[in-house]
Amino acid sequence: MKKLFFSSILILLCTCFACETNKNSEGQTNDSLKTESNNTQNSKPAVKAPEFNADSAFVFVERQVAFGPRIPNSKAHEDCANYLVQTLQKLGATTEIQNFDATSFDKKVWKGKNIIGSINPQATKRILLAAHWDSRRFADKDKDTTVRKKAIDGADDGGSGVAVILEILRTIQVSPSKPTVGIDVIFFDLEDDGTPEGYEPQDNESSTWCYGSKHWSKNKHKTNYSAYFGILFDMVGAKGATFYHEPFSLEYAQSVTEEVWRTAGQLGYGHIFINQKANIGAGGIMDDHFYVNRDAKIPMVDIINYGSGFGAHHHTQADNIKIIDKSVLKAVGQTALQVLYQQTAQ
Ligand SMILES: [Zn+2]
Repeated sequence: MKKLFFSSILILLCTCFACETNKNSEGQTNDSLKTESNNTQNSKPAVKAPEFNADSAFVFVERQVAFGPRIPNSKAHEDCANYLVQTLQKLGATTEIQNFDATSFDKKVWKGKNIIGSINPQATKRILLAAHWDSRRFADKDKDTTVRKKAIDGADDGGSGVAVILEILRTIQVSPSKPTVGIDVIFFDLEDDGTPEGYEPQDNESSTWCYGSKHWSKNKHKTNYSAYFGILFDMVGAKGATFYHEPFSLEYAQSVTEEVWRTAGQLGYGHIFINQKANIGAGGIMDDHFYVNRDAKIPMVDIINYGSGFGAHHHTQADNIKIIDKSVLKAVGQTALQVLYQQTAQ
């Protein structure tokens, strides 16, 4: 990812859909969610989550990178898919793979796999955690033109989000205390196969990004599946990362966004989770959460590294294991765990 969308039509669309999508799966509106959140605004979290282990999260990044770039139709992609399914199962999830085909901007056909896991499937109130697991097949932003055609490791862009989610599940599995909510996981495929820099169509329908989430949002793995809210993790592990409120997240999932950033501040991560709207002008960041919000109608927040840009390593060969900072993984993972543990069952 990602292109920033500046289309006024898109902004208009977002405004129109906001009323609908601000309702969660149980019909509760964002306003009532906000009231609940405001009640805890100045207090410490009531339920303390167990410790998120950043060393273990780092190993989950290393394992993915070791397969090589996770480009669909490749052995690395197949092997990593098997690894992710087996790991989810070891962590107590029931799993399924949603297969789909996608045709990219250069007319290639890709065999995509959305990898889905479910923990505590009996719980009616569910939180959806998502990340993309594919990696980009070129390094179009690399200053070195000789390496631009080479696929990137995607340690941060892809690997870090998956790793944080896996470590959240592992932490819950080994902890005597469990969240009262059920957790669903989707690792979306083919998020990062968009056109090289400078060729992006300026509308969301012909966007060449996010094929996995586009497909799932209109073809859910279970009919009528919904979740109370969702959290998307994208580029959540790089040195120097900062996370601001992403505009589409505010548009569709304001109360969730506020809860995540408030919780991060309470845990002492306010220097990484900056409690302000991202300064990206009009529009938002085109990422998997956009389709989950708009088409699946699940309020989803995007935790994504964006300061003045996506970081110097973005879509370059520098997106490798050396860019990963355990303290960033820790801030994101601990915050998300706390958000999960502070949810009430109803
Ligand atoms: Zn990307």
